[in-house]
Amino acid sequence: MNIYGTTKEDLEQYFVEKQDKKFRATQVFEALYKKRVNNFDEINNLGNNIKDMLKADFTLKKIKIVKKQEDKDVKKYLFELCDGNKIESVLMYHDYGISICVSSQVGCNMGCRFCESGRLKKVRNLNTYEMVEQILLIEEDIKARITHVVIMGIGEPFDNYDNVMNFIKIVNDNKGINLGTRHITVSTCGIIPGIKRFMKEKGQVNLAISLHAPSDELRSEIMPINKAYPLNELMEVIKEYIAITNRRVTFEYILLENVNDKDSDALKLASLLKGLNCYVNLIPYNETENICFKRSRHFQIMKFYDILKKSGISVTIRREFGSNVDAACGQLRANF
Ligand code: SAH
Repeated sequence: MNIYGTTKEDLEQYFVEKQDKKFRATQVFEALYKKRVNNFDEINNLGNNIKDMLKADFTLKKIKIVKKQEDKDVKKYLFELCDGNKIESVLMYHDYGISICVSSQVGCNMGCRFCESGRLKKVRNLNTYEMVEQILLIEEDIKARITHVVIMGIGEPFDNYDNVMNFIKIVNDNKGINLGTRHITVSTCGIIPGIKRFMKEKGQVNLAISLHAPSDELRSEIMPINKAYPLNELMEVIKEYIAITNRRVTFEYILLENVNDKDSDALKLASLLKGLNCYVNLIPYNETENICFKRSRHFQIMKFYDILKKSGISVTIRREFGSNVDAACGQLRANF
């Protein structure tokens, strides 16, 4: 087992099974996440027998940073995993804090036609520790603590549900990385069974839905997942989510020139979302070399925004980060 993939509850269970005391788990967590020790010998308040036991049963840091690219307010990290697979994460400096965009899988099977990350089919899910370590290694690199986590890197988090939820537990644990659930966001392309499970989880983790089209016909064309989970079913489950959690949902909507950015699309989108406790985050499309979609023209982006606004929908245009180092939304990749 990797210690960074172990939740505090699981570690408590471990100590109980070893006929030891539950609070040892808190001691280990404090050493790992507060003091940031890099090996069990550095945990001063544990006896040698316990350290030896931990050494026998757990491994420590496993993934490594192999490349770093920087631009204004953003750093992109390339990580190598122990099996040689590679993933990327992005660090962003905002006026309200520092966020990390974490990857959840090596590759992705969702097949969204506009997305670079999905050009490599899923090789495997990331383990919980591989997600936790993205944060620890980046914090070590910048010598500062982050304030927000978005699970919007490579992969579909709800296609790796359990590992992602354990990751969130460790991020949220006040003896762990200690971020409030409101500072954590999970983004999904619309896996309905995942949303159904997610609405029953404790806490106030934010949910974002990659919508990108206001009708089934168009959505199925650019996001094959829509054939399995069509819009009407998706909207139903989102309504249920909002009713149960009382949380506002974010809809991400990339603007692709002449594909989904017409005035009529904006009107359809407004009527689809009318009355829902939600807001729309418009994402100017980031072009990539291998995919032929184009970014909408600036005036059309503004027009789309205005139509939504006038229809009473809360809407923002996503601030752009990192396109100079291919670190922007949809540009992360796992195939090198
Ligand atoms: N699979 C999850 C998590 C990835 S989030 C999901 O689909 O939500 C990454 C976000 O960036 C998604 O909203 C995705 O649709 C969007 N995206 C993909 N390619 C993009 C591109 N080239 N430009 C802008 N956004 C893009």
